[in-house]
Amino acid sequence: MYDSSQHVISIKHVYATLSAETEPTPVNDKLRMLPSIDGLLLGFDDAVETYGHQAITEALREVIQDRRKRIISGQSASTDEYSIRQAAKRILQIREPPQLQRVFNLTGTVLHSNLGRANLPAIAIEAIQSAAADYSNLEFDLESGKRGNREAYVDKLLCELTGAEAATVVNNNAAAVLLILNTLAMNREVPVSRGELVEIGGSFRIPEIMQRANCTLVEVGTTNRTHLEDFRAAINERTALLMKVHTSNYKIEGFTNAVSVAKLASLAAEFRLPFVIDLGSGSLVDFGRFGLPCEPIAAHVLSQGADIITFSGDKLLGGPQSGLIAGKANLIARIKANPLKRALRVDKMTLAGLAEVLKLYRNPDKLGQELPTLRYLARPAEDIRSQAERIAPTLATALGAHYSVEVVDAASQVGSGSLPTETIPSVAIAIGSATGGEDITRHLSAAFRKLPIPVVGHVNKGRLLLDLRCLNDEAAFVFQLGSLQI
Ligand SMILES: *Cc1c(COP(=O)(O)O)cnc(C)c1O
Repeated sequence: MYDSSQHVISIKHVYATLSAETEPTPVNDKLRMLPSIDGLLLGFDDAVETYGHQAITEALREVIQDRRKRIISGQSASTDEYSIRQAAKRILQIREPPQLQRVFNLTGTVLHSNLGRANLPAIAIEAIQSAAADYSNLEFDLESGKRGNREAYVDKLLCELTGAEAATVVNNNAAAVLLILNTLAMNREVPVSRGELVEIGGSFRIPEIMQRANCTLVEVGTTNRTHLEDFRAAINERTALLMKVHTSNYKIEGFTNAVSVAKLASLAAEFRLPFVIDLGSGSLVDFGRFGLPCEPIAAHVLSQGADIITFSGDKLLGGPQSGLIAGKANLIARIKANPLKRALRVDKMTLAGLAEVLKLYRNPDKLGQELPTLRYLARPAEDIRSQAERIAPTLATALGAHYSVEVVDAASQVGSGSLPTETIPSVAIAIGSATGGEDITRHLSAAFRKLPIPVVGHVNKGRLLLDLRCLNDEAAFVFQLGSLQI
């Protein structure tokens, strides 16, 4: 923001420096001119609230010490209060770790885990705000006046939308898998196909989660082919359950075989073992109706015989971070009774937001407009192309003659390990060097990240691509192009 009073002081400061340089002062006199920390602190108004008294005092000490050294060694150093405060502020700004801030996701990946996955619908944001600002009946039954159950409403919605007997919710899908394994398979064995020992985002790996849940992974079959008989041979008296993991972020292609949900379900039933599926992203409705490729649908998987399913709240579902668990009532009751459940529970804001997102699924016809994730995913390429053509000339002006700006076909992705091999036709603005030759993408990407609302694109073949699929505020994007510094 432009602050005219600062501008005036900074001009004064320029004069102060000039006069200091033109009239040489003896070192001791110059040192005496350095202001006191206390005096400097008095002039620090708003910054004290931002950084705290102690950090500011330390930064001022550093600046004073640096200026003192420079004066003693005969270098030029301003003793002006304003200049010292500004230098201290710069130190404070650099040291402050960057806080959570809004960015434009123009990577083309809709559910970008590093950029916060799902954007929430307005109705969920309102509910979250209200839950955050006020008291609520979180665990209070308004009818009886007694203690209530914080999850009852969300659990009921989950049952309604999946056809499950019972449901529960935890902090994320990783927590859901951990909790299920720890509840149903502690000190026992769990056979999993070698083709499904997934790692998600580097920190969630099925074998490691098994270990932390205190159960033993029994690897079954081979990487590319696992048969029903492999599972049958792995079952013994220590087997706790059968588990299937949706290979969300990769696809094994070629000479492959995975055991179907229905077959594994009947094998589990034969041995009276629970059958658990980690769906990863999962989906509550058939995305085919929006012209999109499909992830497994929760209700289908349960009707094919899965006893417990888990999936993420902030992947395709489009809600807040959470892990949803649905299935047989007796198993859910045991899961809820595990003391770890309390450690992994979700907060009131998540419950409030999740309930509103789930309610939108009661009316799938309107979902395409109401749910940002789906709105972005289903956006037609031609709509994105018109937007790109509208924006490209302004961008070209802001960048100047050294850069080439072109509207090109692109391929968006769902992201977060959903539908890993599928892409959605999209349109991007490609920025390159007008003269060719040197690689300017690092420099360009950095300049876009320095904008007031940082813009994150992706680099492809020596150009920076800005895929506009998820551009949710064109006016704000265009407005800030004037501050682009390249
Ligand atoms: C994404 C994913 C997880 C982890 O889910 P979070 O909600 O990110 O904790 C676990 N399993 C599978 C198969 C996944 O795709």
